[in-house]
Amino acid sequence: MILLLEDDPAIADTVAFALRREGFVVEHVAWLSEARGRLRTAPAPELLILDIGLPDGHGLDLCRELRAGPLQHLPVIVLSARSEEMDRVLGLELGADDYLAKPFSPRELVARVRALLRRAQAVPAAVTGFSVDGTRVSLDGRPLNLTKLELGLLTHLLRAPQRIHSRDTLLDAVWGSSAESTDRTVDTHIKTLRAKLREAAPARDPIKTHRGLGYSLEP
Ligand code: CA
Repeated sequence: MILLLEDDPAIADTVAFALRREGFVVEHVAWLSEARGRLRTAPAPELLILDIGLPDGHGLDLCRELRAGPLQHLPVIVLSARSEEMDRVLGLELGADDYLAKPFSPRELVARVRALLRRAQAVPAAVTGFSVDGTRVSLDGRPLNLTKLELGLLTHLLRAPQRIHSRDTLLDAVWGSSAESTDRTVDTHIKTLRAKLREAAPARDPIKTHRGLGYSLEP
């Protein structure tokens, strides 16, 4: 899912239409506060398209917040009404992955979205043996039959291999703030995920447990 934060209805419609026509699922919000709320709810989007000038604040503030939180690896494309170099540099410094100045062609945006998603998925595949194509994941060329939650866990771990992800971070990213989930929930799903990975590639055991800390994905 792609989250689109844009307060101009005409631009939002054009962008959402162009992306949906290419098969992407788009959720549109017009306020920073709405976007913050949505980003705290699972499942996390695969990519964020972020307008800078918003009725309740500055889009780049959200970018900065994201980079300091559990969604720090979420790919972000910034849209700006001004083609000023300053915005571009600032956007990239604050952690945006790409930048488009308005007016832009929807086609150009779709191409950037594709490129960014490919880049986000290609890096871990090279180091871990996983290949991710939308919701289809394979390990060493063998397709994995994962549940939605297992897929969520795995893609989150894949976004930052070799980094320890706490159970809280994983709960936030995959389950959101639903009350009935606990640390045990994460452990249970990691266990079934591990079993499936072992079946596909018995010699690998890519998910490592760090006692009292959480889990990491090792190449
Ligand atoms: Ca705007």
